[in-house]
Amino acid sequence: MISLEHELAQIRGLDRRFLFRLNKLDIKTVKDLLWHFPHRYEDFSQVVKIGDLAVDQVATVQGQIKKIELRRTWKRRMTIVEAVIADESGSIKAIWFNQPYIARILHPEKIVNFAGRVVVSHDEIYFSNPAYEVFGPRKIEAGHTAGLIPIYPETKGLTSRGLRYLIRAVLKNLKPLEEFIPQEILAKKKLPEINKGLIKIHFPKSLDEAKQSHDRFAFENLFLLQLNNLRIHSQLAKEKAVPIIFSKLDLGEIISLIPFELTSSQKKSLLEILNDIRKPHPMNRLLQGDVGSGKTVVAAVAAFLAARNNLQAAFMAPTEVLAKQHYKTLNKIFEPLINVWELSIGLLTSSEARCSFGKNLEAPKKKTELIKQIAAGKLKIIIGTHAIIQKEVRFKNLALAIVDEQHRFGVRHRALLTGGNFKTTSAGKQKTIRNLPHFLSMSATPIPRTLSMTVFGDLDLSIIDELPKGRQPIITKIVAPANRQRAYQFVRQQIGKQKQAFVICPRIEPTNQEMTPTNPQQLLWHDIKAAKEEFEKLSTKIFPDLKIGLLHGRMKTQEKNQVMNDFSQNKVNILVSTSVVEIGVDVPNATIMVIEGADRFGLAQLYQFRGRVGRGKDQSYCLLFTDSTSAATHQRLRYLLEAKNGFELAEKDLELRGPGQFLGESQTGLPDLAMKSLNNIELIKAARDSAEEILIKDAELKLYPSLNSRLEQFQQQIHLE
Ligand code: ADP
Ligand code: MG
Repeated sequence: MISLEHELAQIRGLDRRFLFRLNKLDIKTVKDLLWHFPHRYEDFSQVVKIGDLAVDQVATVQGQIKKIELRRTWKRRMTIVEAVIADESGSIKAIWFNQPYIARILHPEKIVNFAGRVVVSHDEIYFSNPAYEVFGPRKIEAGHTAGLIPIYPETKGLTSRGLRYLIRAVLKNLKPLEEFIPQEILAKKKLPEINKGLIKIHFPKSLDEAKQSHDRFAFENLFLLQLNNLRIHSQLAKEKAVPIIFSKLDLGEIISLIPFELTSSQKKSLLEILNDIRKPHPMNRLLQGDVGSGKTVVAAVAAFLAARNNLQAAFMAPTEVLAKQHYKTLNKIFEPLINVWELSIGLLTSSEARCSFGKNLEAPKKKTELIKQIAAGKLKIIIGTHAIIQKEVRFKNLALAIVDEQHRFGVRHRALLTGGNFKTTSAGKQKTIRNLPHFLSMSATPIPRTLSMTVFGDLDLSIIDELPKGRQPIITKIVAPANRQRAYQFVRQQIGKQKQAFVICPRIEPTNQEMTPTNPQQLLWHDIKAAKEEFEKLSTKIFPDLKIGLLHGRMKTQEKNQVMNDFSQNKVNILVSTSVVEIGVDVPNATIMVIEGADRFGLAQLYQFRGRVGRGKDQSYCLLFTDSTSAATHQRLRYLLEAKNGFELAEKDLELRGPGQFLGESQTGLPDLAMKSLNNIELIKAARDSAEEILIKDAELKLYPSLNSRLEQFQQQIHLE
């Protein structure tokens, strides 16, 4: 008997070449192999007599080989294997292209099954490339014909046929697996038990059976995910945090400094946040709102209230440019508070450390000094990049952690922030209490409801679903290559009116490798190359008389700052940028967003780019350049023109491109099947309900020991990143 942990290498009789190819699919253990699920099934279940075959029919026949021959066509350098089989009702030919080895397997006289589609060509009826199965002296169970045949994701040299054979053999010798989903839930949701599910997902008798088994395995992960979410939720509710309290007066004072009226959903979100942070348990909230909906100021109010309580707030942005912008915004809007409340605000990135401070405070001059002030609790609001969670940075009393524009801040990073928790000693007694900071994550990517229920299910949600008053919708156009010059003329016209433009460049060659960002360095280079080329072209050929700026991730901070400053002061007319560097920059005078190779981006991403413009009073435009002539691509881009809001687009994007892009760089640790079911709202709801049901009954899962240990495993798996 073999068990799931068994290495395939230890299985006797397994061809080494096979093993090597399996390794390429990352299949190393029995579990890996058995969890390599079919992605579809071929239906060869109709078994008929040869004489009854009809043209175009997909069926299985059994017969004896009468003739077999291998030919080569020299002209087209192809090999052709032709076989004829017969039963008592008739005979039929089969033809295979470029599979010469078949001639060595199928010998005359042998009893075989052929399965596939019957085609007709030049008045001849035959099977084209049928599946085949040879029956030897011992009767072998049909595995490739005469039924529903699993088709697997394949790699070179490892066919579904080979996988089928191996999986069937392993399943036969597998030690029965322990079920961990409670029986009552399986019964209620009509899902197969684990052993049955595993057999039926590979070798189902009907498509219904196959679907139920797929559902089972998708469900089990969603179920674990929901249990995990609910656990985190209830554990956080038990954790301690320092309440951030405030008087009406203080709040009023902050709000009065904001130079505009908050929208009602800004107010609502702010109230939700303030309501959370005044509690002695950590907030764990996601603030979602379209680009330009004004999340920064909402978060800033909470940060200033933390400072008012003599506590610290960290405000983390994904890029230096953004961090700097937040630093400037907060300083500009809330400057009076800095003096009146005697606060200090710091900016800390890998290349820069700055600080503004109330009049009686001492300013740090160097980065090391700034870090010391953070440790001493003198700096109250610390804005920065990942630099603020490096290990040399210690907070004295971090009470609020804000993370901007990172859809799913990597679990590890979040642990670093929240792990920087501090201890307070309650007066007199020597008892120390562990405190976690309140956590606020902000995202401009509208997240489909299914995702907010699953991968983000441990977060509470606040939504800003309106833009500040007076914003006009952005006019969006798809620009075909033939209209490029006209589009440039239009850009020139706008610049003539003192407006500015962004040009975003995509990767040059979106290979598969690039779509799965395993190699960020390489990605970056491609991006930079594209942006540089565009910059050259625009500044020498198209707009030699205008001032063009270039921004990419490999530039020195000083250079980046210079360009951004120049752009925000309208000293640069057109800013050419890579797609990865710039998120969230705020330049209201920019009214044109040009996106090169628009078809290469996801809708959510395009939506993000477009949000860079339309921030001021003037009409803004988004020009989507594409060389693609594919109708599907144009249809996809058109959603951007039609969608009423980001949520609609997000749902569409999820449907078209899967959940990957919403989850950002941080992996979920979820298996493929679960990832694929992240848009199956029914299954997600079922998993949520089931998880709640079980935890209400038995919060510690004492009655369900195998579920409990499986959940622990699962938690480790998704926390590995
Ligand atoms: P995002 O939600 O994308 O982070 P920001 O916080 O950068 O948006 O805000 C975008 C712009 O809108 C900023 O210039 C900000 O000052 C302005 N803004 C925010 N809220 C309002 C409001 N209620 N009325 C007018 N302008 C606002
Ligand atoms: Mg923002």
